[in-house]
Amino acid sequence: MNLFRLQREVFSSRDNTYQFLREKRLLPSLDAIKCSLCGATAKFEDSIGYSAGRYRCRLRNQEHNSTSSKKKNTSRKEFEQSGSKNTFFYNSRLGIEKSLVLTYCWANDFTYAQTISNCHSILENETERLSRETICDWYSYLREVSLSALDKLYQEKGQIGGVGRIVEIDESKFGKRKYNRGKHVEGSWLFGMIDIGTFENPAPEGNFRLEICPGNKRDENTLLPLILKHIAPGTTIYSDCWAAYNHLEEYGYKHLTVNHSVHYKDPVTGVHTNHIESNWRPLKRALQGSQKEMLADHLCEYLWRREIRKKKGDFFSQLLDDIAAVDWSEFTESVQEVQPSTSKRAREEDDDDDDNKENKKSNKKFSRQSVIDNLLF
Ligand SMILES: [Zn+2]
Repeated sequence: MNLFRLQREVFSSRDNTYQFLREKRLLPSLDAIKCSLCGATAKFEDSIGYSAGRYRCRLRNQEHNSTSSKKKNTSRKEFEQSGSKNTFFYNSRLGIEKSLVLTYCWANDFTYAQTISNCHSILENETERLSRETICDWYSYLREVSLSALDKLYQEKGQIGGVGRIVEIDESKFGKRKYNRGKHVEGSWLFGMIDIGTFENPAPEGNFRLEICPGNKRDENTLLPLILKHIAPGTTIYSDCWAAYNHLEEYGYKHLTVNHSVHYKDPVTGVHTNHIESNWRPLKRALQGSQKEMLADHLCEYLWRREIRKKKGDFFSQLLDDIAAVDWSEFTESVQEVQPSTSKRAREEDDDDDDNKENKKSNKKFSRQSVIDNLLF
């Protein structure tokens, strides 16, 4: 899928857009939404003011008749639910087309300028200029999706290493730089672990796990829990002579070191840590200029992209799959409830109508702290 096809095929009509999103499981199937009053399948309609349409049920049956006996004429209730409820689009005031274009642009690592110009050429009817702030918001939203996807992937993969396998470990400081005026910026310690296969069958492109060092420390108390979390017992660990690694043998690992102050590769054992070190370089390039509070997000993005590149996947398709895999209902519930309507219509209690709210602040699904706490790489 490319932007041209998106424009020609997906955006050729609203129906095609909805169909595409249903096929990709970004929106529920047409018969998925049931009326909360009578249980019948609610009817979908594309409605102005709703970014992803709405579902309604207006059946004339017992359940739809108001039980209130105060009025002479029994009023009839209606079921109505925003089409974006419990979906990726639930909090978006951009509309599905623009959201999708932005998603495409992020997946393909476009710059802000490229994103703006593509958005305008694809969505010809769009008159409102896309602001950098909107793009920034949407991109950080997608980084949260990448975190969720990585988290799932690594949980499925389990620990790296194992008996007979070699894992290189190392710490590296990121973001440390001096500005021209001499203002010093303190960097962040990252801890990396890479499974490079067995001695006989090396796999230098192997599984890579990264953690941001809690408290920005790299002592034994900080690093050991990370090692125990990610590296299976019995693994042969290669590291430099950093004191934090002195007791690894006591925890069921084989431990070999290379003394970097003397040589790059240990001449006797052949131990080196150049796989992990060669992994720092592209990582440092990718994270260059990341603000400290954004480091975790950009790290997620980097690792997510790395996984896709490794399996030669398509970034946009993978992203759509990853979005579909998130249970958005968990996050929709925290959205502010709509004020009770004065009309006779009975809204779903937690129906979200934020599509119309212009300045609704983006509702963060994964808090920054939880990103850092749960960086399960
Ligand atoms: Zn109904």
